[in-house]
Amino acid sequence: RRVALQVELERQAATDLLTGLPNRRALADRFLIEVARTQRTGEALSLVMFDLDHFKQVNDHYGHAGGDAVLRSVGQLCARSFRGVDMVARVGGEEFAVLLPTASVQQAGAVMERFIHTLADMDVEVGSQSVRITTTAGVAQYQDGESLDGLMARADAALYVGKQAGRNRVVLAPAAG
Ligand code: GH3
Ligand code: MG
Ligand code: MG
Repeated sequence: RRVALQVELERQAATDLLTGLPNRRALADRFLIEVARTQRTGEALSLVMFDLDHFKQVNDHYGHAGGDAVLRSVGQLCARSFRGVDMVARVGGEEFAVLLPTASVQQAGAVMERFIHTLADMDVEVGSQSVRITTTAGVAQYQDGESLDGLMARADAALYVGKQAGRNRVVLAPAAG
């Protein structure tokens, strides 16, 4: 029973309560495993950061509970949009990260292009109403010796470029250095 409790506590510590997605801590654990794999195999590894567009307006129109319902729907879309080996985590209020083993920055970008279009075309239910939501994504490919913070910062910088350029788009980060 103590082992079962321990397993359950570890699961909870790795899970975001609102969406049920892995949290940042779980992402950090998986990152180390995937970095070890790329060192062994030489395969690519990419990270996506995405942030919902104009989410403050969603909260303003539908209230915080409405915003939370949208976040849960986005979480559900994430859970069915990526490969089993990919990890989608909620890393901030309305910010998500996706770790894609074996994917180059171009391949991860193509996956994200499909994702943002699926999201943009989706009616998200909020109570009896439905809302349209878009997101902007930045994609970066892991480089030897890079930390998770460094990789996330490069994906974030690309995301910021996408926000400035008008949102609802995917931007690929250039190689560092
Ligand atoms: P942008 O397109 O530039 O991203 O605009 P934005 O309005 O989405 O701006 P930003 O990303 O800076 O703001 C995010 C907002 O998300 C701020 C906060 O009110 C809201 N938010 C953060 N966490 C939560 C949450 O857990 N639930 C709800 N309902 N809202 C949240
Ligand atoms: Mg944000
Ligand atoms: Mg936002």
